[in-house]
Amino acid sequence: MSRPTPDNFPKPKSITGGCLCGALRYKVDFPDDHDFLKQSSSCQCTQCRRNTGTLFLVAHTTPLSGFTFLTPTTTLKKFSATPGFQRAFCANCGGFLYWRDESLDEVAVAVGTVDPEYLSKYGFALASASDNLWCENEIKGVTDVMIGKERGIRWARSSEEGVKM
Ligand SMILES: [Zn+2]
Ligand SMILES: [Zn+2]
Repeated sequence: MSRPTPDNFPKPKSITGGCLCGALRYKVDFPDDHDFLKQSSSCQCTQCRRNTGTLFLVAHTTPLSGFTFLTPTTTLKKFSATPGFQRAFCANCGGFLYWRDESLDEVAVAVGTVDPEYLSKYGFALASASDNLWCENEIKGVTDVMIGKERGIRWARSSEEGVKM
């Protein structure tokens, strides 16, 4: 397969994913007109770092109506570090699945939880990150290289604050 570019990359109609222990499995059906490049983001805020244990989160935002659990949600836990913002994870294995702004009918799925067969085929569509949030917190020589200028817009903090870097 040739290297995907913003003008030419494979787009999924749906994907599946889940937590590390497999107790929580989900499916995402994307709308026909879903703008994959626009809906992908990265975040280096301290909340996302502590929540995921990684230096940055890569998430893909999709309508809530297209997100369905394929398993019972017995182990699903939700935590709010900021009121109105949900962070959902598996209470059994700790796997972080998504975050969402409760005022919006959408969900930002943690792309690392997408099943490997979809991630290898559609990784560019899911994770090309047009909005890179909280670059103010980047680790010099590490995350500033990984989230370089060619990867969409770099925001000092969040995109709502309108401070580009
Ligand atoms: Zn689990
Ligand atoms: Zn964040």
